[in-house]
Amino acid sequence: MSKVISSNLGYPRIGEKREWKKALEQFWAGKITKDEFLKQVEEFRLNHLQKQVDIGIDLIPVGDFSLYDHVLDTAVMFGLVPKRFEYSGGKVPVETYFDIARGTKGAVAAEMTKWFNTNYHYIVPELDNAVPTLVENRPLQFYKEAKEKLNIKGKPVILGPVTFVKLSKGYSKKDFKAVVEQFVPLYTTILRELQEEGVEWVQIDEPILSTSISKEEIELVKEVYQKLNEGATKVNILLQTYFESVEHFEDVLTLPVQGIGLDLVYDHGQNLAALKKHGFPQDKVLAAGIIDGRNIWRTNLADTLSALHEISKIVSKDRIIVQPSSSLLHVPVTVKNEEKLDEVLKGALSFADEKLYEAVVLAKGLHEGVESIQNEIKVATKAIQALNESSVRNNIDVQDAIQSLDTYQTEREAEFGVRQAIQADTFQLPLLPTTTIGSFPQTTEVRSQRLKWRKGEITGAEYETFINAEIKKWIGLQEEIGLDVFVHGEFERTDMVEFFGEKLAGFQFTKFGWVQSYGSRCVKPPLIYGDVSYDEPLTVKETVYAQSLTDKPVKGMLTGPITILNWSFVRDDISRYDVANQIALALRQEVVGLEKNGIRMIQVDEPALREGLPLKRDYWDSYLNAAVYAFKLATTPVQNETQIHTHMCYSDFEDIIDAIKALDADVISIETSRSHGELIYAFEENTYDKGIGLGVYDIHSPRIPKLEELTKNIERALQVLDLKLFWINPDCGLKTRGLEETVGALKVMVEAAAKVRESQLVNKE
Ligand code: GLN
Ligand code: ZN
Repeated sequence: MSKVISSNLGYPRIGEKREWKKALEQFWAGKITKDEFLKQVEEFRLNHLQKQVDIGIDLIPVGDFSLYDHVLDTAVMFGLVPKRFEYSGGKVPVETYFDIARGTKGAVAAEMTKWFNTNYHYIVPELDNAVPTLVENRPLQFYKEAKEKLNIKGKPVILGPVTFVKLSKGYSKKDFKAVVEQFVPLYTTILRELQEEGVEWVQIDEPILSTSISKEEIELVKEVYQKLNEGATKVNILLQTYFESVEHFEDVLTLPVQGIGLDLVYDHGQNLAALKKHGFPQDKVLAAGIIDGRNIWRTNLADTLSALHEISKIVSKDRIIVQPSSSLLHVPVTVKNEEKLDEVLKGALSFADEKLYEAVVLAKGLHEGVESIQNEIKVATKAIQALNESSVRNNIDVQDAIQSLDTYQTEREAEFGVRQAIQADTFQLPLLPTTTIGSFPQTTEVRSQRLKWRKGEITGAEYETFINAEIKKWIGLQEEIGLDVFVHGEFERTDMVEFFGEKLAGFQFTKFGWVQSYGSRCVKPPLIYGDVSYDEPLTVKETVYAQSLTDKPVKGMLTGPITILNWSFVRDDISRYDVANQIALALRQEVVGLEKNGIRMIQVDEPALREGLPLKRDYWDSYLNAAVYAFKLATTPVQNETQIHTHMCYSDFEDIIDAIKALDADVISIETSRSHGELIYAFEENTYDKGIGLGVYDIHSPRIPKLEELTKNIERALQVLDLKLFWINPDCGLKTRGLEETVGALKVMVEAAAKVRESQLVNKE
C-alpha cells in the first residue's frame, strides 16, 4: 500500500430518517409487496455505499447491511433455521428470515440478546445438532452487487466462526471445538469464492477475542485461522476485534492473517500498551480503530493524529489503516439534519458520516503530514473548545459538589433491621403486600394528548388537567383492584429516561439521532452534554396529587442514575462516574423534595444496571462500586420511616447479587416469571435479607394469568425467601398493556396474594 488507507467496519442500516425501519414495517404490515420491499432496501444499501464513496473512504464494507440482524444473516447463510419454522433447504426465503426474528402464530421467535456491551440486540442462533451448509455466499453476492452497480471494490464483512458459535445456543460447552470445526470448511468455501472473484480484503469479525476467553479457546482460534489461511491463500484476511482490548495479545499477533483490527478507544489503553510492549509483525497490516465508533462526539483531530504518529513508530505508515473503533451501527447516521440543535453542541457532534470523514482526514494527515489537514484540525479544535468553554460545561455549583462528594452522607441513618421495624409501624401493610412497578397503560389517548401539547395545540394547563384525570382514574382503579401500595401511573412520561433528561439541565435531544436497538426498533438516546443540574422538581406535582386522592401509600417513581447514564450518549470530557454522580445529586434533591411533600415510599429504577457491566471481569468491581455509590448518593438522605424501593427487569443477577445487596434498598422488585423461576435457584445459594418482590406474572403478554399459576409462583418463592419480606408485584411496568387486561391480571394477582396470605397464617397457627 502506498498511501494510508481509510476504512469503515460497518455502516448504520436505518437511514438518515429511518427509511429502512419504515420499509420493514410496511412490508410486515402487507402494505408493500415483497418486490417493492426488496427494491427499496436495495436502494438503501447502494445509497449507503455511495455515501461512503463520496466521503472518500478507501475500503468500504459490503455485506454489513442487514434486513434485521447480522447474526441472523450469518445463521441463515448456513441454512440454520430452527425446526419449528418451515424450511426445506436452499436459500432461506425472506419471509422465513423474518419469521425466525419475529415469530409466527405457531412458532415462537428466536431468542434475542445483547450484542456484547452495546444496546444492540442480536438473534441467538439455534444450532441443535443441525448440520450447517452454505446455502448462499452472502458476502460474495454483496461484493458483486457493489462492483457491478457502483464499481466499488468492497471489503466483504463476515462474522467469524469462533464468535458465531460462541454466541449461538443448542450445543453443549464441551462440544464447542467440534462445532466450530464444522463451520471451518464452509468459511473456507466463502473465502475461496471471494478469492476467485478477485476480492483483496475480507474483514472477519471476532469480537470474542476482546473478551476474557480461555487458553483452549485461543488455541482453537489459531487452528481455525491456520486452516482458513491455507484454504484461501490469495485473499487477505483482516481479523477484526472491537469493544475492548485483545485478551491474548501475543497469540493474536502471530495468527496467520494479513491484518489485525484493534479497538484503540474502548481498550482501557491496553491495546496501545501491548503494541508498545510487543511491537507488531512486519508482515501484517494494523487496522487502527482510533475514532470512537460508539459515541457521538467530534474527534479531536490534533490529538488523534499525534496518537497515530505514535503508532507509526511501531507499525510503518503504509501498513496502517485508519478507521472507527467498531461498526458505526451504534451511532446515528448524520448530524446534517439536526437543524434545531444548539449550534455549539451541534458543532461538537460527529455521527457516522462525520466520523467517516474524520477517518479520511486522519489518513491524509498521517500520509501527507499535519499541514495537509491544518484547516480541518482548526475547525475541530475550535468546535470542541467552544463546547468545553460553554456555560453548560462550567456549572461551578455542580462541579464543586462533585469535588466535595465526601461531605455527603451516603448511608441510611439506621441499618435495615431498624428501618424495617419503623417502616412496618408506619405503613401497617398486610403480609405479602401487593403493588405494581410504576407505569399504567399509555393509551392512544394519552399519547395523542401529549403530542397535541408538544405541538402547542393544547395548553400546558389543559394537558395537566388531562394527566390529572388519568391519575385520578387509576387511583380509583387501584382501590377497586385492592392493591396495598399505589403508584401514580407515569402518564406524563414518554420514556423513563427522556422525561428526566427534559427536566434536568445538561441534556439535549436530537431530532434524528436514532440507533437500532433490535430489528426495526430504534432508540434515540438523550445527549448528556453538560453538567447535570436540578432546576425544578421533576415528579413532585403528579405524585403529590396522586397521594392526595388516597390513604394508601403512593410510591414516588424515579429513574436511577446508572440507567440514565447507560441509556444516553454521555460527554467524554469527564469521567462517566462523575456524570453518574451529577445525576445522582440531582435525584437526591428530588428524593428529599418528595419526602418533604409527604411521599414516604420512593422507587428508584435501575433496569440498566446489569447491562452496563464491562466486558472484562477485571473492570466489574470498579463499575459496580460506582453504580452502588451513585444509587446511594441519590437515595440515602431520607428518614428511617421512608421506604426506598428499586426495580430491575431481569433475573440473571447471580453475578451482581453483592452489588444489589449493597444498594441497601428497603425493597427490590425484579423479573422472574419469564425465566421460569431460574432466579429462585439463585436464592437457594444466596440469601437475600431485605424486602423483595419477584414478578409473579409476565407483563409482556396480554394474557390474564390463572389464579393457580400465581399462587404456585408465590409459594415456590416463599420456600427460599422470607415471608415477612416478600412482596407481590408484576414483572415490570404496565405501560404497553391495555386497560382491561391490566385490571384483570392485577385482580388475579391480588386474589392470589390473599389466598397465600391466608394459608400462611393458618400454617402459622
Ligand atoms: N417504573 C418503570 C415502569 O413501570 C420501570 C420500567 C422498567 O423497568 N424498564 O414503566
Ligand atoms: Zn422493568
